[in-house]
Amino acid sequence: MDSVKNRGFRLPKNVWVILCGLLVLAAPVVYLSAGREATARRESFAMDTVVAVTLYGGSERQLQGALDAAFAEIYRLEGLLSAFAENSDIYKINQEPARAAGHEVSAETYGLLARALSEAGSTGGAFDPTIGALTALWGVGTDRARVPSEAEIQRLLQHSGWQKVRLWKEEDGPKTVYRVSIGEGQRLDLGAIAKGYAADRAAAVLRERGVKSALLDLGGNLVVIGRFKGQRDWRLGIQDPLIAGSAFATVETSDSTLVTSGAYERYFEEGGVRYHHIIDPSEGRPSASDLLSATIIMEQTAAAENSTRSDALSTALFVMGFDRARAFLEEHPEVGAILAYRRGGENKIFITEGLRGKVSVKDGALAGDGAR
Ligand code: AMP
Ligand code: MG
Repeated sequence: MDSVKNRGFRLPKNVWVILCGLLVLAAPVVYLSAGREATARRESFAMDTVVAVTLYGGSERQLQGALDAAFAEIYRLEGLLSAFAENSDIYKINQEPARAAGHEVSAETYGLLARALSEAGSTGGAFDPTIGALTALWGVGTDRARVPSEAEIQRLLQHSGWQKVRLWKEEDGPKTVYRVSIGEGQRLDLGAIAKGYAADRAAAVLRERGVKSALLDLGGNLVVIGRFKGQRDWRLGIQDPLIAGSAFATVETSDSTLVTSGAYERYFEEGGVRYHHIIDPSEGRPSASDLLSATIIMEQTAAAENSTRSDALSTALFVMGFDRARAFLEEHPEVGAILAYRRGGENKIFITEGLRGKVSVKDGALAGDGAR
């Protein structure tokens, strides 16, 4: 009993032997399971924004391989879809619009343009992939940003309209040739949909590599795969449009995409007025929306690659303004949304029904004055 008092407690010798044996046996198991539970994160600049991918579970080696593949996919799409990358399909089309024979493009560019036109149709043109001539004129986010004259805007508006885009296929023996032409004076700009598409494709690459838990963040355009570390729903913050670097709400979800569009993201100021980067295609100028931000949340799985659509819709709903956006959401119950808007001098939040149990709004939400 003495020994127990003085030295803590003492185990019989044979128990020690068994315990030590178990420890030796357990060591590789612990090591292996630590390897299986690895975390890997990589951050890089791509598609004109910061892209961060975080993976949980699996071996370190498997995760690094998956990160390599996901980033390779994102860089590939940047090259394919950028309006500025020479040799990209989009660059080629923009260089020579209204070409009677159209331009031959990859099946992938064709497929994405078809989806973009479908979203343009479903949103009554609030999302318009032919907005490129106007975004170039305003130059928001570039060193050529300026307020154009009314005449310049009207001249470009004459050519506007996603309905002027033509997509067609030609059979060339066993090969299908995909062709695209745009209207005179038009330029494609996939800035409102390309990050969502890249997020969908990068998530597909990760899933193909067996990744079960991941967060992809393409400049605030999010996709989560599975659950956080396979254990609980992810808790995703939504940027407060009035307080930089602060979230005004959190959403608990899994296998989802979350995309936000807001006037606060990119803008320049002239004569005390802010001019932001989301253009109202019917006006040819930054949207005078009463929304502070539009966040779309949809299921995202291998069978439902919804980040592409969510990206287009976040931009479109922002342009629509609160009343039209709300009517759109009523007609499309599969689309979850959180709308921050301004009414009667007050900032308010609208949350679609399906999301209500999953969203927590923080105290002091939308109370900042960093607005518009
Ligand atoms: P997002 O950040 O997804 O809302 O996309 C905004 C970007 O999409 C802008 O920087 C423009 O390049 C482009 N864009 C602006 N207005 C529109 C619009 N109404 N429809 C489609 N693309 C747009
Ligand atoms: Mg968008």
